[in-house]
Amino acid sequence: MWMRMPSPFPAAFYTPFPFPEALSSPSCETLVPNFKQAAKLLGLDSKLEKSLLIPFREIKVECTIPKDDGTLASFVGFRVQHDNARGPMKGGIRYHHEVDPDEVNALAQLMTWKTAVANIPYGGAKGGIGCSPGKLSCSELERLTRVFTQKIHDLIGIHTDVPAPDMGTNSQTMAWILDEYSKFHGHSPAVVTGKPIDLGGSLGREAATGRGVLFATEAVLAEYGKSIKDQRFIIQGFGNVGSWAAQLISEAGGKVIAISDVTGAVKNTNGLDIENLLKHSAENRGIKGFSGGESIDPSSLLTKDCDVLIPAALGGVINRENANDIRAKFIIEAANHPTDPEADEILSKKGVIILPDIYANSGGVTVSYFEWVQNIQGFMWDEKKVNAELKTYMTRGFKDMKEMCKTHNCDLRMGAFTLGVNRVARATVLRGWEA
Ligand code: GLU
Repeated sequence: MWMRMPSPFPAAFYTPFPFPEALSSPSCETLVPNFKQAAKLLGLDSKLEKSLLIPFREIKVECTIPKDDGTLASFVGFRVQHDNARGPMKGGIRYHHEVDPDEVNALAQLMTWKTAVANIPYGGAKGGIGCSPGKLSCSELERLTRVFTQKIHDLIGIHTDVPAPDMGTNSQTMAWILDEYSKFHGHSPAVVTGKPIDLGGSLGREAATGRGVLFATEAVLAEYGKSIKDQRFIIQGFGNVGSWAAQLISEAGGKVIAISDVTGAVKNTNGLDIENLLKHSAENRGIKGFSGGESIDPSSLLTKDCDVLIPAALGGVINRENANDIRAKFIIEAANHPTDPEADEILSKKGVIILPDIYANSGGVTVSYFEWVQNIQGFMWDEKKVNAELKTYMTRGFKDMKEMCKTHNCDLRMGAFTLGVNRVARATVLRGWEA
């Protein structure tokens, strides 16, 4: 049987998956309507509402490194710490040439609501460096990561802000941050999550977002009297999240009939052999050329006939251009902000059930929380315990979200927003305002 590689071993390769050229991530402006609607349903005071939207702190740093050929290269790094009312701020760091402050800001805000929906004791943050990781050597990436860490080390920390991997970064990046941070503050494994297992990473963390997507999908299907086994799935994205979601869904008996990544798309109405596709993708750095299905135009993937559509790559991919043509009955948002607000409206009129990102992809940060807890306890859990706890959190999150839908007579997205915003607002008010 073909096995996935364990966490990447230094220098061999850095970016395990090819990743997209264009990001089309959310801006803060696109998030405001959902937040405002939630605040209105919750009857929040307008001053509180305003304070919840403004980030706690925005950091922008210049990072210059010598390249391998001796020339200098300068990059800009960001960390936006959005809110810490419920605990240390938490969120990934992405490396991508389109990273910009507004995008990082929006993603940091989403992390605040996401950690609150998951009911883990964190706030929200996000970071990024505007660079093309695929065009930098492993040692250049290491230098860049270390310089970035030097510039932000006194603003992150076990009880202040805990970074993790995101697009274009991985467990190796976290190992470099941990090492650099520890030079200033002493050995501190809990300062980052998503680390290699050898450095205090958690078993099950790499699969966690995909496994969370599986549990979230099971929960929503059960609500409608359906099961994974009787559904046909289409997955956009075959990186960390999409590939684990595909593997786990197919192991649970679901039929994955089409998948795309940046190199191409493949379809097989009898169900793709995911194990073979993983092997092909690892050997060829992408799914292009896979012989176990018919190759299709990636831009047609989202509108193909299926029961459950899982966007697991980019923001904004379901939009006014294609929303009317979507044929899935369920959309599980494994990516951050894949459905833009106009598409949301079109799809809800069509009766499509959308499981929102701040719930559906919270498995990653939830197991990050378990990793942080294990580091602080100085005790390692076995993988069975990690996965069982994740299931408990995802199942409870779905129940809590449905409860809010009932209370406020709203759809699942607003159920998740009211749940998250309410928890953060309550914590903020309880802490008080005295200076
Ligand atoms: N980058 C992931 C996310 O967007 C994980 C964040 C974390 O584990 O802190 O949810």
